[in-house]
Amino acid sequence: MANPLLDTTSLPRFTDISPEHVLPALKEIVAAHRQKLAELLDKTPEPDFDSLVAPLEEMGHELARAWSPVNHLQGVLGSTAWREAYNDALPLLTEHGTELSQNVRLQQAYAIVESGLPDDAGPARRSVVEHALRDFRLFGVDLPAVEKTRFKVIMQQLAATQASFEQNVQDASDAWVLHIDDASELTGLPPHALARALAEARKRDRRGWLLTLDYPTYDAVMKHAENRGLRETLYHGWVTRGSNQGSNNCWDNSANIDIILSLRHEAAQLVGYANYAEYSLATKMAASTGEVLSFLRKLASRTRAAAEKDLADLHEFARTALEPWDVSFWLEKLKQRKYSISNELLRQYFPVNTVVEGLFELAERLYGVTLVSANNIAAWHGSVHYYTIRNEDGEPIGGFYTDLFARGGKRSGAWIDECISRKNLNGNTVRPVGYLVCNFSPPDETGQALLTHDDVVTLFHEFGHMLHHLLTRIDYPSIAGINGVPWDAVELPSQLMENFAWHYDVLQGCSSHADTGEPLPRVLFDKLDNSRHVGATLAMMRQIEFGLFDFRLHSEYDPKTGAAVLDTLNEVREEVAIIRHPQYNRMPMSFLHVFAGGYAAGYYSYKWAEVLAADAFDAFEEAGVVDRETARRFRSKILEVGGSRDIMQAYIAFRGRKPEIGALLRQCGIEGA
Ligand SMILES: [Zn+2]
Repeated sequence: MANPLLDTTSLPRFTDISPEHVLPALKEIVAAHRQKLAELLDKTPEPDFDSLVAPLEEMGHELARAWSPVNHLQGVLGSTAWREAYNDALPLLTEHGTELSQNVRLQQAYAIVESGLPDDAGPARRSVVEHALRDFRLFGVDLPAVEKTRFKVIMQQLAATQASFEQNVQDASDAWVLHIDDASELTGLPPHALARALAEARKRDRRGWLLTLDYPTYDAVMKHAENRGLRETLYHGWVTRGSNQGSNNCWDNSANIDIILSLRHEAAQLVGYANYAEYSLATKMAASTGEVLSFLRKLASRTRAAAEKDLADLHEFARTALEPWDVSFWLEKLKQRKYSISNELLRQYFPVNTVVEGLFELAERLYGVTLVSANNIAAWHGSVHYYTIRNEDGEPIGGFYTDLFARGGKRSGAWIDECISRKNLNGNTVRPVGYLVCNFSPPDETGQALLTHDDVVTLFHEFGHMLHHLLTRIDYPSIAGINGVPWDAVELPSQLMENFAWHYDVLQGCSSHADTGEPLPRVLFDKLDNSRHVGATLAMMRQIEFGLFDFRLHSEYDPKTGAAVLDTLNEVREEVAIIRHPQYNRMPMSFLHVFAGGYAAGYYSYKWAEVLAADAFDAFEEAGVVDRETARRFRSKILEVGGSRDIMQAYIAFRGRKPEIGALLRQCGIEGA
């Protein structure tokens, strides 16, 4: 049978794909691309866009399409076989990527294309070529042979070390369990968390309850467990994942971090940057390391007083010393007391299917698109759904899978990824397809899955990314959808969508009580809305702490002294932390965004884009929130253009001016902002 990973006539054949297909498929594609590229360069002495760039876009698309399910399954199935297949293929892929980026002849060919681009080439074509030329430079194309080889080796080692970092965190999390015999130790835990713990115990033939270190369990304990010792135990488990402070040193990521930081620094210097932070900014909206640092510090200084007051108020309310494992718990209590709101009560109004329907209805009201569930689409798990999205005129635009619930082995967190990018080359259009993945509490024994309001916000967030991926009008995959969009602006569409999850009209459509079917009552919404600011300033300072830590770690790295991970963390905490963490806290050792994801010297992006998103949402509010005209502008100026235009210019085209910081501060309840 032909290798199903190579079949591009349909959606990925998830029921046919298995780990042993991975390496042969990728080897075949890479070999074919090598040959095609050599022919192209030989036979096209005077290349132009259509003869050179279009075929390369085609090749990039083909490879990404075969790799996407592999990367995806490795993350959501977490089986050893998939992980091995992924690890085995990674070097081939990285090597091929570097080989392309370091190909001098190819770079020269792109330079010829650029100089020959007609004035009316249009922003998309121009942008594809400019991005490619920039990336050649960033991958060391101009380096002498020895350094070039070194750069290539660095990329290989980085990819492998980052994968090892992530797998250590996963393994440490999976290995952690806490067995509880006495129900009284679990007082306060919501029923869904208890049911989960009970099921985990049964699965392992144990009596009582078993707490695991997945995010929903951790979050439920931190917010609701009356037992302070239990909260501290979970906190300890969570903040020591991947470190030498946990139960088993074999997952210690310290060495991985040293290697990662050293390799990044060396790579950056090889291609002419002082450090990795500068290298990272070469592809971002922020102009300089100084701009990022002063942005974070300005945000901190505008927020600090309010955050300190909020903590003092919380302290007064709790009438006890507040350790890090107490803060979420007392914030939750404060919410209940002051606004008589509880997450558990709210959860009853948000069955997952109702929320999804309401979200789709919102997309329809804003953008005129319709989303329809498709049956008989092969997937990787029984709980996965597939949806098709259609334009106002009924024309299909693309589709996406949802995989919403936590399960063992699945990577934690929530994210979207591209399955297939949009492509329109030689008159042949391929529609975009994506994956939307969350880790919500799975359905209970009655089959009912209820979301917290936080979950609802998360779902809106990821759906915002998905719209960015799906609504693109760009023909060239390398800059279609989210591709080619500066990393610090990528969270604009997602964080913008979050704001709609705080709007009564929208939430009404997303809610029906699990027992009565009644939508969220206005009085309950008002309480929720009033409680929105609880903890917001503390969360803001925490994000600034992460952002500053990540950015300083990369910008101040000194090869002579090596990575100063814990020293930098302590200094940053000295500067901005409102809540003190104990000595054993090893947050960096499980900081996946920075050491395994794409947020290296880029974690600040969350706050950066939040400023854009809050300011953009102001435009919707000025026009009455669910406003077609504002949405049309947002769609055409931001969502559709991918990486084809300068993002600041695109933003100004949407908003009529540059973004301002005030909207975000007001959203956090900071007075006088
Ligand atoms: Zn996001």
